Formats: sequence, structure tokens, C-alpha cells
Amino acid sequence: MVFRADLIRVYPCSFADIFFALLRDLLAFAVISSGSRYHLDMIDTHCHLTYDGLHERVDTVIADAVSAGVDRMITVGTTPVDVRKAVALSRRFDNIYATAGLHPHYAGDWPSPTLLTDALRDLLADPKVVAIGEMGLDKHYPDPPMKMQRAAFAAQLDLANELSSLPIIIHNREATDDTLAMIADADIPGDRFVFHCFTGTPDEIDMILAIGAMVSFTGIITFKNAAAIAEASDRVPLDKLMIETDSPYLAPEPHRKVRPNEPKYVVHVAEFLAKRRGMTVDEFTTTVDANAERFFNLK
Ligand SMILES: [Zn+2]
Repeated sequence: MVFRADLIRVYPCSFADIFFALLRDLLAFAVISSGSRYHLDMIDTHCHLTYDGLHERVDTVIADAVSAGVDRMITVGTTPVDVRKAVALSRRFDNIYATAGLHPHYAGDWPSPTLLTDALRDLLADPKVVAIGEMGLDKHYPDPPMKMQRAAFAAQLDLANELSSLPIIIHNREATDDTLAMIADADIPGDRFVFHCFTGTPDEIDMILAIGAMVSFTGIITFKNAAAIAEASDRVPLDKLMIETDSPYLAPEPHRKVRPNEPKYVVHVAEFLAKRRGMTVDEFTTTVDANAERFFNLK
């Protein structure tokens, strides 16, 4: 090889060079970190990555969440078939956990409590399944009939009693009294429950807190017409609070019109509640993430 002196370029090193090099590095850092304004390890404690709108592009959804500072997600199973999809995702991605339950909307498809609990029991044994649920009662729609919702809920409470280590995710819509009564009948300690996507009154939140349950809030709390929910949230002690998206539903402000909602937007729920409590976002998320790790026993 012939050595050619004319190929050697001389790099003058002046103050201006150093200044511009620093500026370039700063700009590069800003671009790289533009996905998140925080260096956080947030957890979206309740999303549905198996649902249309998210599942067909789940790799991107998860990558976008991670670059926004949301590094772990719990994808909540709502039927035995859906749970299998959730478990499959949890096996593909280290940072995804699954849960196993029957949402009250699907209670009509499972008239036999025994068949339901048999279908769920095996799935609940998976090491990445961190909770039983979501289960509960929903009086917002006339269907399925309350009788079927109650039967499915009671069967799952029995199963939860049998599997004494798993936390329980409650879906309760306009049915707080009945839900709490069934929980009392099941004789399960209240601190095993989280009432997800809370949308009730201050009185209802007091009743839920009285049994020792956790309360979790979605982007609904950021809506201008949800001031009562935000006020109710003030009553929740910091160690009983969790945050979630319930995506693909319920995108928070300022993305309320966005469909579908995604786990990355849990950042806005954190910002809203941190501001309301006079905390920095970092302080707030550190606390609620510790709650989620403890409650769901996340490794
Ligand atoms: Zn849900």
C-alpha cells in the first residue's frame, strides 16, 4: 500500500470546533431522547395489546412505549382465547406481563362456571401471568344479564380464593355496591384487589379504600368533564394508587381524539396526577411504579 500524504486531513482544534462538536452532540441527544421528556421506567398496569388496533402492529406499539419511558406493560386478558394471545405476547417480550380472567361483557358466552374456571386455571399457572381478572360487574349495558355476570364473577372469586397468591383486577362500572358485596361474600382480603379504571364518586372511592383495595386511573381523569373523578382521586393514599391506559380505549388529553390509545400515553395520566398532587412526574411515577411492582409481584 502506498502512503499518500495528501489523503491525511488535518483537523484544527479551536474553541469554535469544540463548541460546535458539543452543540452537535447536544442536538443528537435531544433527537434521541425526544420520545420522552423523562428518564422513567413507567408501567402501564392495564392495557389490551391483544385487541384490534394494537395487536397487528404490537412490535411498534411496544417499541414506542419504551421510547416514551413506559418500559413495562400488563396486557389484561378478557376471555380464555384472549388470555392465550396475551400469554403468547408475554413469552415473546420480556417486558410484557399477562393476566387471565373473564370480563363481565363476555359472561354470556360462559354459562358454565365450572367450564370457565377450568379454562382459566391452566392459564393462571403460567409464570408470566401476574393477576386474575379482569372480572366484575358492569351495569352500563343491559347485556349480558346481571345473573350471568354475577355467576361468572362468583366463579372467578372462588378461583382467586383457591389461588391465594395472585392479585385480582376488578372491572366495576356503575355497580360498586354489588361488587363490594360479592367481594365481602368471597371472604378474600381487600388488599388483593385493584379497582381498575375508576370512574365513580368520592363516596364509592371511600368504600373501596375501606376494604384496603388499590385504585387505578386511566386517561379519563384528564378529561375536562371528569373533574369529579379527579377530585375523588385526591382521596386515594399514594400507596394505594396505580395508573394505566386501558388502551386501545380512552386516550388521555391531549390525545383524546387519537384512536387507538396506546401504552405510551400513560405518561399523560402520570403528568396529570403528579401535577394535581404537587409532585414532580419523576417522584410520582417512582411511587406508583413501586406500588405496581409490589401489587403484581413484578420481577
Ligand atoms: Zn380493561
